Amino acid sequence: MSTESIDVSNANVPAGGETLGPNDEKWLGEYSQVHMNVFGTPLRVMDHGKGTRVWDIDGNEYLDFLAGIAVNSLGYAHPKWVEAVSEQAAKVAHTSNYFATEPQIRLAAKLVELAGAPEGSHVYFGNSGAEGNEAALKLAKLYGRTLPGASPAMGGKPARIIALTNGFHGRTLGALSATWKPAIRKPFEPLVPSIQFVRAGDPFALYEAFAETGVGHYGKGPVAAVIMELIQGEAGVKPLGADYVKQVRQMCDIHNALLIIDEVQTGIGRTGSWFAFQREDLSGGITPDMVTFAKGVAGGFPMGGMIAFGSKLSALFTPGSHGSTFAGNPLGAAAALATLSVIERDGLVANAEERGCQLREGLMATGNPLYVSVRGRGLLDAVELSHPCAHAAMNWCLEHGLIVNAVRADALRFAPPLIVSEQDVDDALAILKAVPTDLPND
Ligand SMILES: *Cc1c(COP(=O)(O)O)cnc(C)c1O
Repeated sequence: MSTESIDVSNANVPAGGETLGPNDEKWLGEYSQVHMNVFGTPLRVMDHGKGTRVWDIDGNEYLDFLAGIAVNSLGYAHPKWVEAVSEQAAKVAHTSNYFATEPQIRLAAKLVELAGAPEGSHVYFGNSGAEGNEAALKLAKLYGRTLPGASPAMGGKPARIIALTNGFHGRTLGALSATWKPAIRKPFEPLVPSIQFVRAGDPFALYEAFAETGVGHYGKGPVAAVIMELIQGEAGVKPLGADYVKQVRQMCDIHNALLIIDEVQTGIGRTGSWFAFQREDLSGGITPDMVTFAKGVAGGFPMGGMIAFGSKLSALFTPGSHGSTFAGNPLGAAAALATLSVIERDGLVANAEERGCQLREGLMATGNPLYVSVRGRGLLDAVELSHPCAHAAMNWCLEHGLIVNAVRADALRFAPPLIVSEQDVDDALAILKAVPTDLPND
């Protein structure tokens, strides 16, 4: 089917744009009465979904190229996922960590295998990306205490954790301390001390930060860890570059610092490999010391966590070091096992790679002058716009039946479900091709 055959002017939405359907309007009014206003007013009230499509409460259909922010790996209501979650719910949904369950054990083993982590690697489960990063930061702190010059008992200086400008690691106080964006971080300062930012992509800045370690009065504590994304997702889908990542790894090795790769957004097949660090063109082939994951892992069930590479590092967490009531919940574990097994069975990692190429090439081939350049890997992509009208473009797409994300004022982000078909990408491109070039700035 050619992209021309899609009549975007006839999408199932009110003409003239801004008007919401009556049910959307009613429920959004009630929403703001009872919800704290941290998310702004939601765009629509969603009712149900199937595959790559979702319907709002007024019955309007949307092709979803955001997938709940890279979460719904299998799209909506995938039969295998629904079956696995239903069966597990009917068996046992929650036990606490006084008890273990088979799905949880199988999932941890599967994640270690998919990450290609060495013998003796261990998993910690939490319930979100931020919690995966909290676990990583806490483990890094314990590791930091083992470094010469950092032992509190010996009067040492606290070990540092280095994070990058434009990085995003979550909203809890620890993860927020390593998150760059001043507008969301500054109001909550003072935050966790001894976390220091260096300029992303600049190896010399990192070299200098390492060189600040010193025994003298002015020297700082040793560096316990560097935490970073390989593609900075919230910053607008920006790959750091394989050369830089390799240099970071080398500097960490020289200084006995850990390298934490935040794969909350990039992990679980999204970038065309199980984890982004496994892509030579993103990582230069490095091996991390910790990987954090969340978003796509359980196909819509809240789950996250961290894999510590090797037994020595894993062993720094002992009973009482960390925990969470819901962590490793069997319902979430069953959802994740089903998600991973469908990704494997249906070759969705390769599909992410192919559909991503189709999307990026297709965007530039639309000839729409609004689109300046594309970036990303697999199905985590963005298009740079000729002027800062991303919110207007996102709203226009929504009104024409396509969900995309205004990740920055000058960029749209795409993160469709990994099940997305060639036809779905063509359908999305037909709508994207028709986006007016003269939209107002945000
Ligand atoms: C979304 C995201 C997080 C935070 O995950 P939550 O589940 O929202 O806590 C952390 N790191 C990265 C890279 C993310 O994209």
